[in-house]
Amino acid sequence: MVGWVSKSIVAMTIRMPRWFVGWVSRRYVAGPDIENAVEIMKRLSKEDACFTVDVLGEEISSIEEAQFFIDEYMKVIEAITANNLDANLSIKPTAFGLLIDEQIGMDNIEKLVRTAHTHNLFVRLDMEDHRVTTSTIQAVINLHKRGLTNVGTVLQGRLFRTLDDINELETELGPNADYRICKCIYLEPEDIAFTSYRDIVDSTNACIDRMLAAGSYCSIASHDIPVIEYAKSALEGYGMGPNIPDPRSNAGPQRDAKGPGYEFQMLLGVRGPLRRKLAKAGHRTRVYVPYGEKWYEYSIRRLQENPTLGKQYAKAFLMPWTNRP
Ligand code: FAD
Repeated sequence: MVGWVSKSIVAMTIRMPRWFVGWVSRRYVAGPDIENAVEIMKRLSKEDACFTVDVLGEEISSIEEAQFFIDEYMKVIEAITANNLDANLSIKPTAFGLLIDEQIGMDNIEKLVRTAHTHNLFVRLDMEDHRVTTSTIQAVINLHKRGLTNVGTVLQGRLFRTLDDINELETELGPNADYRICKCIYLEPEDIAFTSYRDIVDSTNACIDRMLAAGSYCSIASHDIPVIEYAKSALEGYGMGPNIPDPRSNAGPQRDAKGPGYEFQMLLGVRGPLRRKLAKAGHRTRVYVPYGEKWYEYSIRRLQENPTLGKQYAKAFLMPWTNRP
């Protein structure tokens, strides 16, 4: 039933008018403007959540389009500061031009990270598909070398290369390495990535282990119980946990607005009860809050790239007890 409905949702969504796409995606997207994101963050602050804000949009087709994202993220910085929100930024490097002109893309990212630095805000470089894995990691290394340590990347458990990437980042950044680890939303080719559920979970968990062993900051971005439970037991193995200063002898610096060496992260609208349970147990929990005019393009593209998302949406509507906002 869910399989059939999910295929229909994908097929329908791609052909359907904006209102239908808006209806499917409204629980996952804050709205078109930064004010919508601020409103949601104020509401979810009461659930002890902190946030990372994403301006929707990616892979621009001309380098001039990057200016829109620079300007919009400047507004995000202003809004976070003016409203005293416990939030940082998530950016898509291809929206800053990384795939058009690597140098200009990196300069654009640096401009934003520098401004965030002056406001003591952290910037997470989301990880997109495999075309930009190496350049995204390199951007983080370059920025750290320029003294901008308020930046970290995302690594993806699905990719074969990720343990090697952790080793490289550990060598380059030492204890300042700060990761988000997720499974990976892109259905990558099987010559570079795991494709079965079990292999992806095992690989993601192995990455969590490696990050914790290296003393790095580890943001666990998953709604999947086997990943979350594994992370909790790995943390316990290191004596890490809620309200305990990070006890690892090789731990990186404790940063303002960060957890004690780790945090859990979830997407807006997904598995709220699980997030609230983690927060109630004292874990730092961060909600990824996307907003922007480009919600329609974003939703369609995500579904086309990864039709299994249709299954998640179908499950959320047909079996709402499996995923409440
Ligand atoms: P799954 O097994 O996919 O999900 C477990 C359960 O969670 C599902 O059964 C379902 O009930 C629920 N669920 C999960 N996702 C959804 C959804 N969209 N709608 C409804 N229900 C859902 N990927 C990248 O490639 N690059 C990134 O930079 C990146 N950043 C992320 C940031 C955050 C904060 C999070 C939480 C995820 C991010 N991802 C990113 C996506 C991630 O890689 C996965 O594709 C996604 O989180 C689903 O994997 P999962 O571990 O939650 O497990």
